[in-house]
Parts: sequence; C-alpha cells; structure tokens
Amino acid sequence: MSARAGIVYLVGAGPGDPGLMTTRSLELIASADVIFYDRLIPPGALDGAREDAELVYVGKQPGVPSVPQEEIGTRLIEAARAGRSVVRLKGGDPFVFGRGGEEGEALRAAGVEFEVVPGLTAGVAATAYAGIPVTHRDDASAVAFVTGHEDPEKAETALDWEALARFPGTLVFYMGVKRLPENAAALIAAGRDPVEPAAAIERGTWPGQRTFVATLGTLAATVEREGVGAPALIVVGAVAERREALGWLERRPLHGRTVVVTRARAQASGLAATLRELGATVVELPAIRIEPRIESEEVRVAVESIREYALVCVTSPNGAHLLFEALGRASGADRDQRALDARALAGATVAAIGPGTARALAEHGIAADVVPERFVAEALVEALAGIEVEGRRVLVARAAEGRDVLPDALRERGAEVDVVALYETVREQPEPEAIEAAQSADYVTFTSSSTVTNLTEALGDRFPAGARIVSIGPVTSDAVRAAGLSVDVEAERHDVDGLITALLADAQ
Ligand code: SAH
Repeated sequence: MSARAGIVYLVGAGPGDPGLMTTRSLELIASADVIFYDRLIPPGALDGAREDAELVYVGKQPGVPSVPQEEIGTRLIEAARAGRSVVRLKGGDPFVFGRGGEEGEALRAAGVEFEVVPGLTAGVAATAYAGIPVTHRDDASAVAFVTGHEDPEKAETALDWEALARFPGTLVFYMGVKRLPENAAALIAAGRDPVEPAAAIERGTWPGQRTFVATLGTLAATVEREGVGAPALIVVGAVAERREALGWLERRPLHGRTVVVTRARAQASGLAATLRELGATVVELPAIRIEPRIESEEVRVAVESIREYALVCVTSPNGAHLLFEALGRASGADRDQRALDARALAGATVAAIGPGTARALAEHGIAADVVPERFVAEALVEALAGIEVEGRRVLVARAAEGRDVLPDALRERGAEVDVVALYETVREQPEPEAIEAAQSADYVTFTSSSTVTNLTEALGDRFPAGARIVSIGPVTSDAVRAAGLSVDVEAERHDVDGLITALLADAQ
C-alpha cells in the first residue's frame, strides 16, 4: 500500500543495516511526496524515493544548530494539510527514544491523521549483531531499555537508580556513552554488582561495528581507552558474556576488511552486495560510467536490419540490455512500423560472451545458443568454431572501446562482420570522500581494463598504496601492470563470482 495524501507516517528505519528496514518502510519511502529524515538512517535508505519527492533533512548533529522539535511538528502538519503524503523517517523505532510520541501528539492535536510503522530498535538489533541475547533462559528473564542521557533541560534525573540496580534482568542504555562513568557509579552505589558483565556496542549493524565486553566496574575505562563514540549502546547483564559463544558477525570471512569496487555504479550493486554479505566494508569508487549510444546511425541501421544477421554476438550484460532497448525503439524496415522485440532474433544464432551476458539476454527472452566457459573474447572465438559463418552476415554488438579479437577471427573465417558500439564507457571522477575512505583499503577489485586505466589516472598518487589488487582475468591484469601496479590475485573464472572466490581464498 502506498502512502496516502494528507497522512503523516512515523516510520522507523531500523538501526543502520539497510537490510533491516521493513518492507512497509520501503513501500512508503517509494511513494511519499515528502520525506523528513534524521541523521541516523541507513545508508541508501532514500535511494528508492520518487525522483520528484522532496527530501528534507531535520536531523540533529552534535554542536550544530538543528531544526527545533516544535518546528519539525509544524512542518509535518503543514505538509499534510497541503494534501501531501508525508514520511517522517527516524532511526530505529519511532516510539523508542525517538520522540515519535511527541510528534504523534502534535499531529493529533492539529487534527492530522498519522500512522506508525515500527522499526527494529537498536536495543534488540545492535545487541543481536553483537551476539548478545537481551534475554536468556539462564541469565535474564527481563530487559529494560533505559536512557543514559536524559533531556539536558530536565533539572533532575528521573532515573531511579535503586530500582535499576534491583532490576532482575538486562539493562540496555541508549545514549549512554558520555555519562557511562557517572551512570555505572550510580548503579554500583545503589547495589548492582561491579563484576557483573557489561558491554558497549558502537555503530551496531553498521559496517565497522565494534563491541567491547568488560564488567560494570571496568567498562567506562574500556570505553575511554578504545575511544567508543555515539551511537553506542551500553548493556549491563550476564548476557553480555554470551557473546563469546554467540558472536557471529566477526566470523564472516571478510569481516574487518575494506574492499574497493571500481565498476560503474550501474553494475556495481551485485558485487558490492555480495562483498557486504561476506562482512566486508565496501567503498564504491566508480571509475567509469556507461554512456548509451543506441541513438547513433550505425546502431539504427544494424537494428533495423537485424533479421539479416545469421549470428549475433553480445559481449557484455550492458550490451544485452541496450540491444533490446534499441530494438524496442526501432521499427522493422521490412514490416509495418511496429517496435522490434526478441522475435526479431528468431532466425539468428545468438552468442553471449559469458554467463552474465547470457543471463541478461535471458531477461529479454533469449536463451543464448553459445556461451563459452571462460569469459574472454578468445574463448568465444573457440566456442564459435562449430558455427558456419562463411559468407554470412554477423553482428557484433559491444562497447565502443572493445577489442578486435572476435571480429577479426570471424572475418578470417569469411564472415561479413558489422561491429556496432551500443555504448561507450567514459571516465567518472570519484568523489573525494570515497577516495579518502579507500586509502585504508585492504583490496581493490578490477573487473575490466577500462576501470584500471581510468581509476589509476583519476587517482594518481592517491591510489591506495597498501591495498592488494584483485583482477578478474588476464586482460584486466595486463592493464594493471601497464598502469605500473602489480596484480596480487587473479580470478580463475573470469566473472564476478570467480573474482569473489579468488578474493576469499586470498583473505583466508
Ligand atoms: N529510535 C532509536 C533510538 C534513538 S536514540 C531506536 O529505536 O533505536 C539514539 C541512541 O540510540 C544512540 O545514542 C544509541 O544509544 C542508540 N543507537 C541507535 N542506533 C544505534 C546503533 N546502530 N548502534 C548502537 N546504538 C545505537
């Protein structure tokens, strides 16, 4: 169900890992007219928002003047009254230390309808990612969520330290890092055991999450020594020790490693997502961008006479998608003026350079006839050995800057080859923050020679010196060496899965 006009949705975005956002929150983000969002929302949380949605930052940042709470309320009310659908997006859960209650009350008082979409609160999510169960049959039959830092305007603390000291279960303090020394002392003074296990969880569920386990009496010193900063939770209770048996995040194969992905943004997501699944911190440093060229005369001519080709070779997933986009725009010269689709390829043998390209073709209804095992032009030439091409027309649909191995080999066998450029890869200047984040990388991955050349030229002496270089295959490796760098790992299978396998083996 999409967001309705005139309604405010108080939505929880979860603790930071984008995968922990609810389906409902994503639906509402995708359909809202306006989104008011906080600082601690997951990276990419707003990626699915409408192009024309208004995105308004109303977060608080330490030391920076922020939008006052009353003004946030007023703006929510105004937007809803203007007939817009409004999402108010908050970290974690909106009703757990999120001021969602106050905002709801202001909306109700103004006669504005609202709905609440719960989010995963840090108290259960960051703890779970740290391998700390907030309840446990043997250790804790209750859990309390406590604020460790109250409204600074409140003169007196509302916390009943004696009650908290007596509380028969786990205490989870939100906003509790700054005042940890005072709060721990207050708990101990009120009778809580100083040797009780306690943990600090920093940036739970985010890349680079850190967890430290000590005791109630010693945690403040640990936190000070390790420089733990907000956002962090403090957990007090025997369950903190369960982490030893239950910690899982750190066991993922690429935990603690930073990996640079250099593919064009449009293609990077699969590789980046898999690396994140494996525990890596991913820095996207796209060095190239795909610039379609399907409006060119050569593409138009080739596509309109597509039925005349006996063999059509597609050399990348981008090429496959763009070929079908071009078909959709073209009208068959020999037929009435209808757009073309997969049926225009019915008479041709279709060859894909590798499994990724074959998958892309399959999305458009074409099961490739020829797919070599190895993902290089030479392998495709071999795989095509059994296909009769002499005197026949062959179309090679590819990038502007492709190699000529395939067309040359086919011409040698007597084919009449047309090579058309469906797209061009152009240099993209990486963002300064991404370059900075890449400096401490453990790995830089290269999936094509054009990314090597463009990235090394774009970065110059800012190329991460200490990183190991992982190449997808021999052609890319040559480009790495030509750029004056050395290849540390080369994939045996020349596709993204092969590259990941090789990286994992190296990271063991
Ligand atoms: N509504 C939020 C809490 C907001 S208060 C929720 O339900 O989670 C902000 C406090 O939440 C932070 O000071 C910190 O104590 C805690 N917090 C939020 N995100 C966190 C995270 N990813 N890891 C650890 N603590 C987090």
